[in-house]
Amino acid sequence: MASVLGTTVELRNVAGPRHMALTLDHGTYCERGGACKCSTESYTKAHRDPATGALGNLAGIRPVTASVTLPRGVWVGGFHPVVLRIAGVRSAIAQGLIECREVPIAEVESPTPPMSGSRGDSPTRRARRTEPAASGD
Ligand SMILES: [Zn+2]
Repeated sequence: MASVLGTTVELRNVAGPRHMALTLDHGTYCERGGACKCSTESYTKAHRDPATGALGNLAGIRPVTASVTLPRGVWVGGFHPVVLRIAGVRSAIAQGLIECREVPIAEVESPTPPMSGSRGDSPTRRARRTEPAASGD
């Protein structure tokens, strides 16, 4: 695969409800986007055992379609481009309720040191010189 990171999509609610909910349809967003964003919930339903005919409960896990809320006037990013294929998103764009823009995913240029915590606010800045006990050799 090429090292192109692709694009991500940002959406902004410009004329919709104050908090506009979009459903990230599993068949469109998850399957084409390559990653399932759905959450799961457990369920039980009545089930008759075909062998014994006894009634029981069948438990399972099913996906719950993810949704996202777009506060009006705020760009919300991080969507896979397939979000634009979701019927609800397309119609909202067609009606002028939301705007979309594609943002290239760039290589991270400013390296953020993974070890440093919240910057500027480290209460124990002085390293404690508690040397480990010398390994008895
Ligand atoms: Zn899904």
